Amino acid sequence: MHEFSYKDNVLYCEDVPINDIVKEYPTPFYLYSYKTLVDHFNKIKKAFSELDPLICFSMKSNSNMSVCKALVNEGAGLDIVSGGELYKALKVGCPPENIVYASVGKKEEEIEAAIRKNILFFNVESVPELIMIDTVARRLKKKPNVALRLNPDVKADTHEYITTGTKEKKFGIDFKSAEDIFDNANKYSNVYLKGIHLHIGSQITETGPFVEAISRTLDFIDRSNIEIEWMNIGGGFGIVYGREKARTADEFAAAIVPLFKDKRYRLILEPGRFIAGNAGALVCRVLYVKATAAGKNFAIVDAGMSDLIRPSLYEAYHEVLPVVRLKSKLLKYDVVGPICESGDYLALDREFPELVAEEYLAVMSAGAYGYVMSSNYNSRPRPAELMVVNGDVRVIRTPETYKDLLRGEKMIKEFK
Ligand code: PLP
Repeated sequence: MHEFSYKDNVLYCEDVPINDIVKEYPTPFYLYSYKTLVDHFNKIKKAFSELDPLICFSMKSNSNMSVCKALVNEGAGLDIVSGGELYKALKVGCPPENIVYASVGKKEEEIEAAIRKNILFFNVESVPELIMIDTVARRLKKKPNVALRLNPDVKADTHEYITTGTKEKKFGIDFKSAEDIFDNANKYSNVYLKGIHLHIGSQITETGPFVEAISRTLDFIDRSNIEIEWMNIGGGFGIVYGREKARTADEFAAAIVPLFKDKRYRLILEPGRFIAGNAGALVCRVLYVKATAAGKNFAIVDAGMSDLIRPSLYEAYHEVLPVVRLKSKLLKYDVVGPICESGDYLALDREFPELVAEEYLAVMSAGAYGYVMSSNYNSRPRPAELMVVNGDVRVIRTPETYKDLLRGEKMIKEFK
């Protein structure tokens, strides 16, 4: 459920008609519903309440400071993957003891910054990384908490690029190697090795892969007599983009909570998409409508793969809705961007009431992995981000300008 809906054929974000917002803010822009964001966080919190987990919102899905702040205010921790995300997490006031840090490629200076700030956990993905953390910790005379990210070799039914828990992937550590690490824990005397981390992929709409991955891991822990205090089961809860049937937070919890019945671990969750995905839309304007000799109709809009890359990168489906729903005949369109790539599209072969130039479309479910994956490709300034908060439209990021495109660039004037 989310707070984008039609009233009298006009699309609203909460109680604000989007056709009013486009009068004030030039398209394209991302538009978020504060209410949806917070509601989705609280749905997970409530569903898993029996285990009282720490819910660390996965910043990689949406690192806008207002989005993160809204969730931190609700009691969320943050899941980070870089020194940049650590910087932003601290700026929004997330207590370091609620920050967990994953990534297969943490640099020494990123590790040092996180140790100095006393974050809750490093989720470690390899032995060399563990050695690096141990070495930096010794130099700093600190003792950070470390969780090993296991690769349980479980296939999640999702896009290949966002599957992370199978043994061919770069993520995590296999059970055998993890056992060796725990057996030789005294080699890493500058860290507390006291957690296990899992993250098997993203946009997983069934409970089965979670149950399998967690069960395999719990069996492994029992079998190898490993002592841990924390278990982090990652993110990955899928959402409805189009026709898929995703699970509710209660359904995910009903499958997962019983697995921890007689365990005394503190649980961590790292949801991103489930919280932010359906809380945002990308609003754009139709520039031109073009019919080709091959019988295709293109609606060319002012947003493209530089703003939202998911369709081009993953062939991801996003519902596209007219901001004002007209009662004209239905026609099929490809909704495409202005970028010089055939792969630059937002939707293919979709039926709309006949589209005309200057009308507005909303690309739905764009709140996660939307703005964060945007780029300046084709020298296009990145769009604004707006949030509806209690009936007001708040600018949470101004649009980039042409001047921003030059930031940091140096032009050599004479090549001698
Ligand atoms: N945790 C880790 C380690 C991740 O890599 C990701 C994303 O891929 C997430 C959490 C968040 O995943 P999702 O947005 O599917 O919940």
